[in-house]
Parts: sequence; structure tokens; C-alpha cells
Amino acid sequence: MIDNASIESLKSSIDIVDVVGSFVELRKAGANYKANCPFHGEKTPSFVVSPVKQIYHCFGCGVGGDSIKFVMELEKLTYPEAIEKLASMFNFSLNYTKGSSDYSDAKRVLSAIVQWHMKNLNSNEVAMEYLKERGVSQNSIEIFEIGYVPSGQEVMQFLESSLLPLPKALDAGVIAKSENGSGFYARLVDRITFPIHSPSASIVGFGGRTITNHPAKYINSPQTKLFNKSRLLYGYHLAKESIYKNKKIIICEGYLDVVMFHQAGFKEAVAGMGTALTPEHLPMLRKGSPKIILAYDGDKAGVAAALKAAQMLSIAGFDGGVVLFPDGQDPADLIAKGESKIVAKLLRESKPFIPFVLEKIIEVHDLNDPRAKEMAFGVAKQFLEGLSQIIKDAYIPMASTLLGVSSALFGKQTQPSRAREIFREKKDDIAQLSILKTLLEKPDLIDSVLDVIDIDMFGRYATLFSALINGENEHPHLMGLAVDESLQVMNEKELQDVLRNFLIKHYDIKLKSIATDATIPFAKKSFLIRKIKTDIIPRLKRGELVAFSVN
Ligand code: ZN
Repeated sequence: MIDNASIESLKSSIDIVDVVGSFVELRKAGANYKANCPFHGEKTPSFVVSPVKQIYHCFGCGVGGDSIKFVMELEKLTYPEAIEKLASMFNFSLNYTKGSSDYSDAKRVLSAIVQWHMKNLNSNEVAMEYLKERGVSQNSIEIFEIGYVPSGQEVMQFLESSLLPLPKALDAGVIAKSENGSGFYARLVDRITFPIHSPSASIVGFGGRTITNHPAKYINSPQTKLFNKSRLLYGYHLAKESIYKNKKIIICEGYLDVVMFHQAGFKEAVAGMGTALTPEHLPMLRKGSPKIILAYDGDKAGVAAALKAAQMLSIAGFDGGVVLFPDGQDPADLIAKGESKIVAKLLRESKPFIPFVLEKIIEVHDLNDPRAKEMAFGVAKQFLEGLSQIIKDAYIPMASTLLGVSSALFGKQTQPSRAREIFREKKDDIAQLSILKTLLEKPDLIDSVLDVIDIDMFGRYATLFSALINGENEHPHLMGLAVDESLQVMNEKELQDVLRNFLIKHYDIKLKSIATDATIPFAKKSFLIRKIKTDIIPRLKRGELVAFSVN
């Protein structure tokens, strides 16, 4: 079991903005952060993270909670698993009560294996020869901890002789269960290994390149709790500092490209895990607000990957450009040949995302064929629709020139914002909601409010009010209130004024309903009307909070 004290100190050392921000893209909105909710599909952000309260809340689907709850729900983990995940994300060492096993064992296995791989590399001539041929320096080998994994038998022997527990090696993705379930086998064999790190520099897996002409040139660790390849970028832990400092990130295609870029002094280089960039990478890319340069091969696969990534990044509002390396010459080769200057020049002359996307869309269509032209127009228009209004307007002339169509075809836009209407809808309820928000922040005022009003007076907010009184702070709507910045927390005097106005309105309405209510005996009716008209309302108007409710 994880020691309670270390859970508490983990909780106090993490910030919900960092936690949520490593999974979804957050944008600052006043004192809070906003995002499209990761728990329900939406196009306009109604998911709010409050750094002050250290909670998140979605106004769309009602989910909410703290950092741990967020990781549990998003990653479908149990409470201890979420704690371990958070500890691993933020390089925090947990303490365990005696006799229990823990997740950091998987990490211990990985660290021991990195050291072993590095030792193996020195004694393997074929692997060393390959790296030398590709131009990788000894210094790069050490910085990137490049190693070599021999046969499966040797892997199993190493685990055994170093007393590394097999179940932990399984958790770490180093070995797998054999099909008949009788034993384990090593996942990576006879390969040059590239350890893969989390952004906080803890090792989470391996990429392996064959040196025996295995048909799979590269193989990665399997997806494990530590290793989620759609969120990781190879080399990010080494590039991080330069990315922040130089406001630039170079994304290339292969591990060796990253190594060679760094070797040539382009220390902002990273790579995906042999897969395309995904929206899950965006939060990491957003950090430090760098300009993004996609440095891909000029072959068909490279162009297609660059087009997809440039579309996604420009729609997500990133600034940057694309460099396609001439056919057959990947950046690693150019650098190995001492052509770093050419690489630097190509990087400087990267083509900005939006013109790149527009040109590629048009390139694959024959504009002399009206139908193909129409299709190209449709694709270009759809792409532009995804951009912000200002950016879109700026690129319409270019798109219409490239396509040879009138810019009017791209349509006049600008719809009035819905935000104002939504606000107006809510305005009527603002008194009640502000009262609730104030009580949420200042619970010591609850008693004085209960002296003068009845829960039922809160109409549609009556259940919310009783949740508040009962201290159900996990209530999703209460969390929503807590992070709703359009509502003010009042001081005691302001609260009393709002309460009085609220009560005056309430008794006004009450008067009308009493007058038309046939179930109230006449004598009582006239008593109530007189009481409200000549006593309660005048006193309220004089500034007194009247402790009387008429039912
Ligand atoms: Zn939601």
C-alpha cells in the first residue's frame, strides 16, 4: 500500500493545471483555464479548471473533482493507480508501507536494463559499426543512452541474475507472456535500443532498431501504464530546455534524426513514436509556446504525414512551418555528411503551415478538370473553416488565387457570438446563484441567510441550496458555481442587499398568488395580504432583513 503521508505530500506538490494540462489543451480564461471537455464531445469549451480551488468542472456534462479524480476518470484507473500515475508523471517518489510491491519496481527494471544495454553495445561490433556509419558520435551515444539488446535467452538470464522480478519486467513491457501462458519471452531482441523518457526524464520504454535485417525495422515497447506512445515525444526531456529558451521545436520522423539534430546543435528536435502526431500531443507541444517546424522526409509517406500534421496544428492555432527533405536524403544523413549548414538553411526556409496545406490540397487535383477543381475547392474551404476568423480571412485571397476561383465563393462569415445570449438567459437567476456562490465561499454566513429565507424560495435552485447546506461540496453543480467567474462573491453587506431585493421580489410574487388562490380561507387571505403589504415589504424596503416566511 502507498503510505498516506506520501499521498498527502504528492497532492500538495502537484498543480491541477499541470495535471489536466498534460492531457488536454488548456487556455487561460480570467483566473481559470478552459478546454474542450475530454469526457464528452464538444466544440465550444465548457470544461473549466480552477487553479485557486484545484478542481475541474464541466458545465456541459457535469463532471468534476480534483487532480486524482481527473486521472482516475480519464485513464480509467483505480485510486492507487492514479496516484502512481501522477507520481510517475511528476517524478515524485512515493513511500510504500512495508511488504507491498509498487509501481516504481517497473521503473527500477527499466533503469537496470538501460545500463545493461549500454554495456552490451560496447561489445557488439555490428551495432557499433552501424552507428558509426550513420555518423552517431560517442558523445551522442552516451547522452541518448543508446544501447544494444542481445538474444532473448540473454535477456531472461540478465533479469534472473539481477534478481529483477519477472512480473515487474512484464509491467515494464520488457517481456511478454508466451502464448500458451507457460512462461515469458523477451520483447526486444538483437536490436540497437533507444530508451524513451517521459517529459520529466524518467524512463518509460524502448525503441529498437534491427541490425539483423528483421522485416520490422523499428519496434517499440508495448503500451503500458508507463508508456503511452500517442502522448510521448522521443527526446523531449533533452530538448525541453532549448524549446523553452529558443521558442522553437523541431519535429522529425525518426529516433536517429533526433540524435543527429542534437549532435549538430539543433537541440530542439524531438520525434513521434513512429506514428503520426495526434491531438494528444498538443498539450506538450503548447508548453513554452514554441514555433513548430516539421522536418519530414520528402517521400510520399513523409508528405502525407506532414500534410496531416500541418492541418491539425494550424487548426489548433499553432504557428510554424514544414521542411521536406529532398527525396532519399533524411536530415540524419545530411548532418552525417557534414551538411549541417544546408539543414539550417532548410529549417530557416520552412513553408508556413497554411500555405503548405493549401498548396498540397491543390497539387493532388487537376484544376483543368472542373469536377476536380470543385473537389479541391471543397477541401480547401473545409480546411479554412477550421481556422480562426482572422486567420481564415487573411488566407482567403491566397486560396482563391491558387484555385482560380472568386474569393466570394469562400463566403462572408461572422456570426454573432452566442455567448451574450447565454449570459442573458442566466441573468434572471444571478441573484440566487450569487447568494449560493457567496455561501459556498463563506459558509459562516449560511445561518444568517437561513434566518430570513426558506430553501423553497430558491425555486429551481432549492436542491442545490440544500446540497450546499448539507456540505455536499462534491456536488457537480456546486463545483460549477465555485469556478463560475461571472458570479461574484459578496461581502456581508452586499449579501444583505441582494437578499432584501430577492425577498421583495419573492413577496411581490407571493402577493399575487395568494390573491388568486382559492384554497386559502378569506380571513387568512386578507391577513396575509395585509401582513405582506403593510409590514414585511415596507420593512424590507427600509433596509431591514425580515425573518418571516409566508407559506
Ligand atoms: Zn463535459
